[in-house]
Formats: sequence, C-alpha cells, structure tokens
Amino acid sequence: MGIDVKSSKGIDDDPIDPYLPENGNRGYRVSRYELDLTYKVHSNRLTGKATITTVTTEPRSRFTIDLASNLHVTKVVTNGSRNTKWLHRSGKLIVTPAQKIPVGGALVLTVQYGGSPKPIHSMWGEVGWEELTEGALVANQPNGAASWFPCDDHPSSKASYRISITADSPYYAVANGALVSKRTRASQTTWVYEQTEPMSSYLATIQIGPYERRDIGSGSVPMFAVHPPRLRSAFDVDFGRQPQMMDVFSRLFGAYPFPEYTVVVTDDQLEIPLEAQGLSIFGANHCSGQHESERLVAHELAHQWFGNSLTLGRWKDIWLHEGFACYAEWIWSENSGGPSAHELALQAHQGLARKPQDLIVGDPGPQLMFDDRVYKRGALTLHALRRRLGDDHFFALLREWTQTHLHSTVTAEQFTDLAAHYTDDSLRHLWDTWLGEKTLPVAPR
Ligand SMILES: [Zn+2]
Repeated sequence: MGIDVKSSKGIDDDPIDPYLPENGNRGYRVSRYELDLTYKVHSNRLTGKATITTVTTEPRSRFTIDLASNLHVTKVVTNGSRNTKWLHRSGKLIVTPAQKIPVGGALVLTVQYGGSPKPIHSMWGEVGWEELTEGALVANQPNGAASWFPCDDHPSSKASYRISITADSPYYAVANGALVSKRTRASQTTWVYEQTEPMSSYLATIQIGPYERRDIGSGSVPMFAVHPPRLRSAFDVDFGRQPQMMDVFSRLFGAYPFPEYTVVVTDDQLEIPLEAQGLSIFGANHCSGQHESERLVAHELAHQWFGNSLTLGRWKDIWLHEGFACYAEWIWSENSGGPSAHELALQAHQGLARKPQDLIVGDPGPQLMFDDRVYKRGALTLHALRRRLGDDHFFALLREWTQTHLHSTVTAEQFTDLAAHYTDDSLRHLWDTWLGEKTLPVAPR
C-alpha cells in the first residue's frame, strides 16, 4: 500500500559519501540479498522479487533503499508483514514497517517490482543494466546497481548474495558466485548463483547472451570463459596467458581471493572492460586475436584483489583500486618478457608531465575519479613506494594488505599505516607529495 509521506528528504540527512550523495542509506546493515529475477530478452522486461536481510543500527520508523524510479514496485513486505507502508520516488524506496524495530533487530525486506530496466545517467556516463543486441549486460560502477534491484548502493555495504535469473532458453545467463542449480522448463531456464564472500552492490552483475562456457583453467584456480562461439579462437589468443598471469599475481599479491574466475566477452563492442566480483566483462572488440588487450586482461584480473576483495569505503580512495590495477599491468609486463615496471613508470611519468597537474590523487573529486591520471599516478605512487622499500618488503606489504583485509572495506590510511611497518624511514613525504599535492613529484629513481 502507498502512503502520503510529505518528503523523502530529511530522513537521510548526512550523505554516506560526498562523492555520491544520493546513494547509500542509514539505519541498517545488509547481510544478504536474495534476488529472484526473470528477464525477457526480446522485450527487455525484468520482473523481480528481492528479499533483503538486514540488522538495524538506529531506532527509526522509516528506512530507505536505493531503487531506480522507472522500476515499478508492486508489493513491499517487512518481517513477513504486508502491513507495511511504502513510497517510491527519486530513486529511493521509503519503507515504514508496521512495528518499530529495536536497534540490533532484524529487518527483512521483501520487494516485488518490475519494468523495462535501463541504465542510470551518471556524471560518468550510463551505468547499470543495459540491453544488448541479444541479451543484457550489467556494469554498475559506481552507482548503477539500483537500475535492476533494490540495494544499499554504497561500496562499504557488503553482503552475501543468491541470484536466481530466469531467461529465455537459448541464452546463457551468468551472475556472481558459483552456479548451484540450472533448470530448464519449457522455453525458459533458471540459473541460480550463490555468492558467499561479501560483495558490494556495484560489483553485482548479470550477463545474458548467446554464449558458450568453457573451462580454461590449468592451474590451482578454476577459470572459465563465457563468450559467443564465434570468438573462441580469438579468445584463446587474447586471454591465452591468463593462467600464467594468475600464477604471477597469486605469488606477488597473495592467494586469489575467490573460488573461481570467469571472463565474459559480449557479442557487442564495449568501450572499456569492467570488473565484477569473480568476473570480468570485456567487449567483442577486446577479443581481436591480435594480443592487443593483454594489458586490460591483467588490469581486470588484478581488481579481484584490489577493488573486489579489498573494497574502498569511500570513493575518494579510488586509487586503491585503479592505481593498484594499473600497477598490476606493469608487474605483468615485467614478469612476462615485456618492459620492466620501472620503464613503464618512467613512460607514464613523462605522459603525466605533459598533462595538466590539477588533481589530487588521494581525493580527486567525483568528476575526475575515473580520470586516467588517477590510474597512472596511483600506479606511480606504488612504484615510488617499491623503490623505497625494495622488492621483498614491497611485495610482502601487498600480501599482508590483501590477507589482513580479505573481503572487507579499506581506506588509504590503513594502507599507509601498514606500509610504515616495512621501513624505519618516514614515508610521510612520499604520501604527501604523490597523493596529497597537485604538482607531479620527480620520477621514482
Ligand atoms: Zn580498473
């Protein structure tokens, strides 16, 4: 039933994150999402039932959750009671349970909804659910998740997921986690995935298309490829060294943080590849059979450690994802017969020296957070640190970093604090100049 709430503003006064002030919600912590989704490929029609298990953290009569306004909510139940008031507007579903819930009490929210999903317009372009020529793609980063399910859409809000997706039978459907069941009935197939390790909403994904799935693993981590059959041989060229990449990264960064890794290549072209938890999504254009995209293959794989297992708690620390993933490109190069990380660092430094020095890597502002200079200078910051600490200490630091904060939320201060344990000298000047000032420091020697 609907209600006549005067204003949806005023109950979430403080933004969780100034970079994305509309996203994220206060008053509860989500522990689990269970999504039952049905998607009709040809009509781009999505219907869903989301069961969201939370624990309250504040005494409130109303709670909000992010959900795109173009999706039509048909029913909301809290703690099993249909006697729940709700209002859906301006990208928020506002819910008033029939009974007040004490702090620390369970709030289980069930939302039924449907509509034609479309991407959310953001200052970084279109994000979220996107219709493909044949199928669908989901690329949420940073705030597109609410285009397809109700969520507490902030990276610090991590939860386990069960995603059930029913789609037309000729199509393959992928979601995060392990496939636990697949059932075909008449013309539709239901795929159920269980994502056990905690996941941020922006890393949740579904990929539907005319795909085949192949086992491409040869080492300790199971690896799979999901792509249109026509791209099979090109994939084997472009992603052929991924198992070696996995070995190099596992040795230097610590054990791979998830049970398996899947690369999805869409039939359509994509401007840029994108990471999701346990998955990466590339476009057909990245699969040319010419070995052109190996840098990106390394970048996306590295995000499984830096971004997906260890996830920023606030978007200003984006260099913890992109600087590390960019540095992983250089590390792969030097471990696979290409130019050394030092050579690539000097090249990147020359490139940055020719560009405007008007951003602060440690707090670039929302508009510039995906700027290439954040990626390159973030990577250079790590290279400067490596030259100071020496290889043994630097990679030991990375391994302690990924182990200590496995599957959790991190800040830049936690990284700089940990780094301080690996040297007797102060690193303050290094952090201040590389992360805190606009002027480009001299290249690491
Ligand atoms: Zn990246």
